[in-house]
Amino acid sequence: MITIGIDIGGSSIKAALTETGTSILARTQRPTLAEGGVDDTVGQLHACIEELIAAHDAAPADIAGIGVGVPGAIDHDRGIVLYPPNLPSWKEVPLAALLSDRWGVPVLLENDANCAALGERHYGAGRSHEHFIALTLGTGVGGGIITGGRIFRGARGFAGEFGHISIDADGPACNCGSHGCIEAYVGIHYLMREALPDLRNDPDSLLHTRALNDAEALDPKDIAEAAAKGDATCIAILRRTGERLGVAIASAANLLDIEIFIIGGGIAGAGAPLFDGIAESARHRVLKVHRESLALLPAELGNDAGMLGAASLML
Ligand SMILES: [Zn+2]
Repeated sequence: MITIGIDIGGSSIKAALTETGTSILARTQRPTLAEGGVDDTVGQLHACIEELIAAHDAAPADIAGIGVGVPGAIDHDRGIVLYPPNLPSWKEVPLAALLSDRWGVPVLLENDANCAALGERHYGAGRSHEHFIALTLGTGVGGGIITGGRIFRGARGFAGEFGHISIDADGPACNCGSHGCIEAYVGIHYLMREALPDLRNDPDSLLHTRALNDAEALDPKDIAEAAAKGDATCIAILRRTGERLGVAIASAANLLDIEIFIIGGGIAGAGAPLFDGIAESARHRVLKVHRESLALLPAELGNDAGMLGAASLML
């Protein structure tokens, strides 16, 4: 079965033509044009689909369906995308109909963090696990809950907002209006805002000069790279980040009886300092029944998780 999976990000659209959702026959990427209107972004989606079909020398009728990961909430019954925060001109967009009318195939929509979780479930670190939460650490902190092998959407499809678990009632203000959300510590901009003074105050840090002169260009991947070279301040920043994530992970584990957490996204590649911080903090906080079995797994699919998860919606 040939399906198309599309992952709409805030800056780029990734799309692939896949065989049974897994092996990638053709792939493409285009800018999202988020600053433009709905028509601009939908035009890019059509262009991606056209290119994939042409690359495989196929006809639209050969495609079993199109799955789309969207950075926001979805009305699943009506196939409508609801006010995605990173696509400012989108209000209520009937994306499933816009694509299926043009291509004559079924179209399914899913939240992008849920798609990443489904990708890991079918083809990545979650292949042999029925119950897990997949976290994506990026500008925000996305979460997708898999229970009994399936995505858990909640009553209206909004479940899995891991980033807005608060770990401190008096903590920093979060975009959502609450305080102390884990996203307000771990989201890229929040993390860098807190890390820069540490880097500026440590003349021995590999990032000291850049933090003073070129702070805008620094991102968490630079911190991860410096930590891998032994930079003590960067190691401490990642460890602190991990310890905070561990607090939220412990709450989620206790609430849902889920013991496996698959961690991907920008700084997840930092490895030991981040994962050690999470493990130590979470193991101290989970209920005793979970202490031994709590497992943290690195995501395996990287940037392809959302796209492959979207393709798997048609299976
Ligand atoms: Zn929040």
